[in-house]
Amino acid sequence: MLESLFDTPPRDPADILHTVFGHRAFRGQQEDVVRHVTGGGDAVVLFPTGAGKSMCYQVPAIARDGVGIVVSPLIALMRDQVEALRQAGVNAATLNSSISSEESAKTFRDLKNGKLQLLYVAPERLVLPGFKAMMQGVKIALIAIDEAHCVSQWGHDFRPEYRQLEGLAGDYPGVPRIALTATADPTTRADIIERLGLDTARVFTTSFDRPNISYSIVERDNARQQLKAFLARHKGNSGIVYCLSRKKVEDVAEWLNKEGIRALPYHAGMPSHERSANQDAFLKEESLCLVATVAFGMGIDKPDVRYVAHMDLPSSIEAYYQETGRAGRDGLPAEAWMCYGMTDVAQRRRMIDEGNAPDDVKRVERSKLNALLGVCETAECRRKAILAHFGEAHPGNCGSCDSCLSPVDTWDGSDAAIKAMAAIFRTGQRFGVTHIIDVLLGKETDKVTQFGHQEQPVFGQGKDMDQRSWNSVIRQLTAMGLIVVDNAFGALHLSEEARPVFKGERKVTLRRDRPRKAAETRRSLQNAVALPPAAQSLFEALRTERAALAKAQGVPPYVVFHDTTLRAMATDRPQTMAELGTISGVGESKLKRYGTEFLAVLKAAGPA
Ligand code: ADP
Ligand code: ZN
Repeated sequence: MLESLFDTPPRDPADILHTVFGHRAFRGQQEDVVRHVTGGGDAVVLFPTGAGKSMCYQVPAIARDGVGIVVSPLIALMRDQVEALRQAGVNAATLNSSISSEESAKTFRDLKNGKLQLLYVAPERLVLPGFKAMMQGVKIALIAIDEAHCVSQWGHDFRPEYRQLEGLAGDYPGVPRIALTATADPTTRADIIERLGLDTARVFTTSFDRPNISYSIVERDNARQQLKAFLARHKGNSGIVYCLSRKKVEDVAEWLNKEGIRALPYHAGMPSHERSANQDAFLKEESLCLVATVAFGMGIDKPDVRYVAHMDLPSSIEAYYQETGRAGRDGLPAEAWMCYGMTDVAQRRRMIDEGNAPDDVKRVERSKLNALLGVCETAECRRKAILAHFGEAHPGNCGSCDSCLSPVDTWDGSDAAIKAMAAIFRTGQRFGVTHIIDVLLGKETDKVTQFGHQEQPVFGQGKDMDQRSWNSVIRQLTAMGLIVVDNAFGALHLSEEARPVFKGERKVTLRRDRPRKAAETRRSLQNAVALPPAAQSLFEALRTERAALAKAQGVPPYVVFHDTTLRAMATDRPQTMAELGTISGVGESKLKRYGTEFLAVLKAAGPA
């Protein structure tokens, strides 16, 4: 089969999609991109995670004469991609320092003989004189630049090595280039095109909605218990729990293990062998919680991440979307969950204020933080609010975010706003939320008596509401930009925009936070993912078979087959090799390799 790939170039892309990758049809705009690039055109592909960007360069690389070069930021992750391609019968390789000299020699031979179909390299290698010399006389089918946002300083994963790619057009004239990213941020997109000299490339974009991810954001109460309740919905699943600090990563991971949930830490301060061992475990195991800082995630192609939880507020909507976007790459239901409180806002403000960025960048960072607060405090559909930030109109009522699943009431919060603002103003605009609420509730704390705040007319004026409700009011007024958290101690002051509210000229509508219990009772993800009972038990049996086959080869299970493929097998129950070959994800090579084993499991279960 490998031979036949070479005897008949250029091949029909649809045929490659079918016979090599086992997919029945292109998805969305994949076909347009593939035909454009196969025909020799440059392309910029801006699709969300899970849309199927890999096919956009893998299929043309196979269809076109010569080797396809794929630039990817992380050496550690190229290995799995190469392995997955090899399993599909594609001659793929990677060159890096961890590859044995024997294997490198074979790669070099295949390259020279025109047998290599895809070569994965890190950006810094691609521009080495030695690499260019090696490519002398080698036909190059295309150059794909994956995670292209790494070239931009505006993105959140800037990698200086990517800047070296600016000269690619000159180094390899006439070779089609395709840049791919899941970045939704317009500034970063424009920067990618400019930096990579792709201004004449055709740009392919699609909706950035991730309909299979459901979003929920809850107010922090007892974060660990809240996390535990959330993870209870995800028994047997893999997911990521993001924490802001390295210390918190370690504490939370340790605590989860004590609670009987298998968890491993990941952060940049760990010894690198431990870090890569934990990353490896996350890729290979099927039910593991990885507790990490944002150092973890880029280039992770694990398709079956079922949840992403945030224990702290991310830095912006862009970062939140990128991080949560790592869930549900396979298109099956996944959950994004965040737990946050007012202290996070002060913490983020401190990080911005104390950072080294120039003032104009800090201003942008502050406004990005406020935009995220807006999403956290909206009474509307979360998906609508997020997509609106990226300039995409969504009708709302997505049916799967927390606002849509259990709609929140709103109320006229004008009087409450005035009281809260009065408490802030009358105490000199230099106290944090806890003290302000103490004043509103008329609590004679040490701090209150020390500053004589019990003498203020507003003292005790907020007794009609409890602490939690006041917290909610102040959070929402902050999200609206009426109250500003202004320094490391979380001191609150009023903005110019507060004036009309204070004077009774502008009404404010607030969301009524749900009673605590109700906030967490949601349609369980498990139900959404579950198959009918008979199919479910067959799916489990197929999973067991897959785990054994993967383990024997030392590769992650999804390299053998994705969950979506096993689910299709469990539902359709093919009983012959020919029938098995029609399942999406079963290409010719994998049918040969694994057909007998999986068919045995399917036959034992009998036809549908
Ligand atoms: P991205 O890189 O855009 O995040 P991937 O290339 O990892 O997405 O693909 C996401 C998932 O979609 C994978 O499970 C892949 O096998 C599947 N997929 C891609 N294209 C198709 C297709 N045409 N038909 C069926 N499944 C597809
Ligand atoms: Zn919604």
